[in-house]
Amino acid sequence: MRTVELGRSGLKVSAIGLGGVQFSKVSAAQVKRVIGAALEEGINFLETAYGYFDSEEKMGPALRGRRDGLVLASKTWIRDGATFAQHMETSLRRLGTDCIDLYQLHGVDSQADMDACLKPGGPVEVAMRARQAGKIRSLGLTTHSLDIALAAAGMDIFESIQYPISLVNTEVRGSGLLGKAARNGVGLIAMKPLGGGRLGDPRLALGYVYRFRNVVPVVGVETPQQVRELAAIARRPPALKTADQAAIARLRRTVGKRFCRACRYCEPCPRKITIFKGMYFPVYIQQMGVDRVLGKGLPDYLKDIEKCTACRTCEKRCPFGLDIVNGLKDSLALARELLAQKD
Ligand code: SF4
Ligand code: SF4
Repeated sequence: MRTVELGRSGLKVSAIGLGGVQFSKVSAAQVKRVIGAALEEGINFLETAYGYFDSEEKMGPALRGRRDGLVLASKTWIRDGATFAQHMETSLRRLGTDCIDLYQLHGVDSQADMDACLKPGGPVEVAMRARQAGKIRSLGLTTHSLDIALAAAGMDIFESIQYPISLVNTEVRGSGLLGKAARNGVGLIAMKPLGGGRLGDPRLALGYVYRFRNVVPVVGVETPQQVRELAAIARRPPALKTADQAAIARLRRTVGKRFCRACRYCEPCPRKITIFKGMYFPVYIQQMGVDRVLGKGLPDYLKDIEKCTACRTCEKRCPFGLDIVNGLKDSLALARELLAQKD
């Protein structure tokens, strides 16, 4: 397997990482099989989160006796220092390790988020102390905001940034992020390189991401077969041909108008609808399954869609020209259909 140095962190990761969000959908035995396949294929980079339901709990036993040589990453969205420390300790315990190689501040999507992370006694300070104590090796962040990614790439705190890069998340091109991150020794991890399962052929989707040197895609997986397929692509990234470019252009036309980046530039909604969650609903289903997402009935962010007046204020703000009104309606219709099937 090819490897990539993750910025100045000193971590050497496989050219593809496996994301643990979908581990909450499958059995612990299946997680063990998936991780076994990853190790056989030379994939050493495994990424999860405190908030991915029981993902860490299933990974812990699967990692027993296999920890050496792995680069383990986790994260939490918590912004107060004391709870942040608790989450980190919980992740260490669940994963059955005394050190998490890469700990990330999860979903730092606004300046207010960043300020909360940097405040005295806050997550960054706690993470620095944890690093001195050997509980984490490196600190990174994940964000859906290009502005935050650009700012973080210029700070000496973060050694990696996880940001959406895919054939429909193309904002990174010409943004200066790649150059700035490379100059400052900040590793780049591509979030949702397969668009949360919406981009079809992984060969095309990863082929696009691998055009960016030293960017490491992290893909959520559920089966050993998926692991083997991804490993084969990572080992020999395909050169995209003219027919592939045409397929990409088609995908951008069809999926692109509904492809929410969760950047939240469209907010606030006058009816207080959490637009990105509504738009993201099909991805939540793909990543976490119907029971986890709809187990207690319609969540509030879907119920709120009924309040939409189609004023289209959000659409004027969305830099990607998304058809938000119809996207939200479709999410609500899909949720109702899935609930009806459960009954
Ligand atoms: S709808 Fe547009 S602006 Fe709003 S979160 Fe999605 S991509 Fe961003
Ligand atoms: S169109 Fe709907 S979701 Fe968008 S701002 Fe208006 S009420 Fe909110």
